[in-house]
Amino acid sequence: MFADIIIDIVHEAVDRIFEYKIPAHLESRAALGKTVQIPFGAGNRTRTGYIVGIKEIPEYDPALIKEIIDIRDNEIESQRRLIKLAVFMKQEYGCTMIQALKTVLPVQEKMNREESKSVILTVGRQEGEDFLIRYETRHQVAKARVLKRLLCEADDQEQGKVCDCRNESKSMFREMEVKEISLSYTTLIKEEKVSLSTLKSMEKDGVISICSDCHFRNPIKSPVATHEIHPLNSAQQLIYEEFVRDYDDGIRRTYLLHGVTGSGKTEVYMSLIRKVIEEGKQVIVLIPEISLTFQTVNRFYTYFGDRVSFVNSRLSKGEKYDQFVRAQNGDIDIMIGPRSALFTPFQNLGLIIIDEEHEGAYKSEITPKYHAREVAEHLAKTSNASLVLGSATPSLEAYTKALKGEYRLWILKERANKMELPKISVVDLRQELKEGNRSMFSRELRYEMEQRLRRKEQVMLFLNRRGYAGFISCRVCGKVMKCPHCDISLTYHRGGQMSCHYCGYERPAPMTCPDCGSKHITAFGTGTQKVEAALYKEFPEARIMRMDFDTTRKKESYNQMLEAFSKGEADILVGTQMIVKGHDFSKVTLMGILAADLSLHSGDYRAAEKTFQLVTQASGRAGRGKLPGQVIIQTYQPDHYAILASKRQNYEEFYAQEMTYRRILKYPPCCEMLVIFATSDKEEICKTALDELAAYLKRAFPDIHMIGPSEGAFKKINDIYRRVIYIKETDIDRMKQIRSCAEDYSRTKEIFKQVHLYYDKNPMGIY
Ligand code: ADP
Ligand code: ZN
Ligand code: ZN
Repeated sequence: MFADIIIDIVHEAVDRIFEYKIPAHLESRAALGKTVQIPFGAGNRTRTGYIVGIKEIPEYDPALIKEIIDIRDNEIESQRRLIKLAVFMKQEYGCTMIQALKTVLPVQEKMNREESKSVILTVGRQEGEDFLIRYETRHQVAKARVLKRLLCEADDQEQGKVCDCRNESKSMFREMEVKEISLSYTTLIKEEKVSLSTLKSMEKDGVISICSDCHFRNPIKSPVATHEIHPLNSAQQLIYEEFVRDYDDGIRRTYLLHGVTGSGKTEVYMSLIRKVIEEGKQVIVLIPEISLTFQTVNRFYTYFGDRVSFVNSRLSKGEKYDQFVRAQNGDIDIMIGPRSALFTPFQNLGLIIIDEEHEGAYKSEITPKYHAREVAEHLAKTSNASLVLGSATPSLEAYTKALKGEYRLWILKERANKMELPKISVVDLRQELKEGNRSMFSRELRYEMEQRLRRKEQVMLFLNRRGYAGFISCRVCGKVMKCPHCDISLTYHRGGQMSCHYCGYERPAPMTCPDCGSKHITAFGTGTQKVEAALYKEFPEARIMRMDFDTTRKKESYNQMLEAFSKGEADILVGTQMIVKGHDFSKVTLMGILAADLSLHSGDYRAAEKTFQLVTQASGRAGRGKLPGQVIIQTYQPDHYAILASKRQNYEEFYAQEMTYRRILKYPPCCEMLVIFATSDKEEICKTALDELAAYLKRAFPDIHMIGPSEGAFKKINDIYRRVIYIKETDIDRMKQIRSCAEDYSRTKEIFKQVHLYYDKNPMGIY
């Protein structure tokens, strides 16, 4: 028997399949997706690879084919399904097989057994100190050292400090739990220089317990059943019944649940999940990372208990891996997580749910630049599972398919708790200025805010830009202060610092223009920091909280701030995107969108769509509880169709307008768009390489619709130059052909050794 093997290193040149002989004694253990050790290259260095195919007849001369050294029996057996999914992703998005495999296969590094062991303190403080005295009087110094260390750890935790050695494994949820005092086995052995027998003896004393599978424990240790379980209302029930009918009839398809914010989509998901689990199948639930809060996950626990797990980027590699092992072993039925949760190795997948399917976060920003919706569709098809997409503002892609009948469309028009949707008004900022209001709060917004403060209700203010002000420019010569490493204007922060949001470059703002020497160099525009400062001035009595990248850098602070605000510890919360996503604050009755224009002019063909989504989401934050909500949108362009449709909260109206625009200008979903993006630290090489590639593609496809090559929206970032080609094409297969020609061409040309090439199908951002 022979195996097709892929070598586990990221390098274009080895993106090919090598044949190896499977020695007789390993034959029974060989299977698709297994990790193998093989001799590689002239020096026969031992390398790691994956089996991506098994066959009886090799293509090469069997006499020349080397033998597999060993096959590793992984705790997670990478499944055929995932390997096939990798093949699909390579073809669909353009990447090496290795990159595709690395995306779909769980981190396979087998964890060192020792490393996964923990030592847990099993006695209380008083008893612990009694033991310590006993150990010390008996001169059992090693035992005393261990115990001291553990008691010390207990002190740290009581004071809320985080011990360095455990930093890695602190997930955001752990911060909220009653903690047990434990230290890693290796830490103790290494740092306290004790032996296993010492620890064993302490275990006998009843002071500690050595836990070897603690990593398998649930990442949420003490979920609390807090969420009310509601019987479905009639609209929800109809959806549920249709799903059940289809499911029982063996029909598997994609459903799009278009439900206004608060319409009870999550409640519907729960009922569908229950149905599928009862059938003995498993479920993957994708939720954008930013909405994956303790509250969200806890809601699932309320329904399904510890048959649920989650992954997120804050879990350590080992913890993530453990959750995949639990899925593989059948210990859980539901996996919740961001897009990577799609690759959970369930044995019998029955349903995939993608909540907030329109979210940009479902598109991977690293190669392969896959979209979770597309991959989920493929995965669902190949595993005979159903797919449910949910959103209050479906992506144009999904909605178009629903209208074509490719997806089944479900609609929830009303909020589940019968609350009215908030009242939305639009304020024309040009008019404000004309009438002498130079503040960043329009008169209407200010009036409504005062009302809220008086009534002790909460206000949220959304501005899609952090920092103190936009950019700094000279009013005399027009010079804009830019980052020397990136072609990006520097953002002004409080205290007179300018910083680059792309590379972190920082320096004090100049007092005079470096070009013309004029003193009239000032900051324009506004950011969250400036709003905060203005609030302190204009609403001195209000308690103000700011949430943006700068205030939530620390791991826990994001959840802590949300928690504090929901407890009413602030009256006004000002923040970037992160405050508008999916949080449920019952006392917020006013949402102010300070400058809708910021997202409207982001220079991206999806700008209007993003604006509509943001406004809708933002308005979903107001009036969640018993009090009615209100939204005020401030803009310089009150007549823009995205603003008008937002105001009316009319998705269909927005969809119709936006599709007209996309059709005329040939943007997705009316057309496929491919980005070929090149970066290099050498400007000239970057340019030449992409020019050559463009010329080649034009020869190969004379009628190609190509824009560029041109400089990216930012000429350089971090001293790396950027150039870009856009290709539009209505025929999906031809688009794949074009891409694969580009891939082949670049692989054969010397100059591309100095250039990184990326492919992005239907991009979500700007290049
Ligand atoms: P969405 O996911 O669409 O934003 P949720 O499922 O979070 O909506 O529901 C919004 C609110 O309405 C939640 O507080 C939820 O508990 C409540 N809710 C959902 N379905 C029902 C129902 N059938 N009866 C009463 N309340 C419900
Ligand atoms: Zn100047
Ligand atoms: Zn920079």
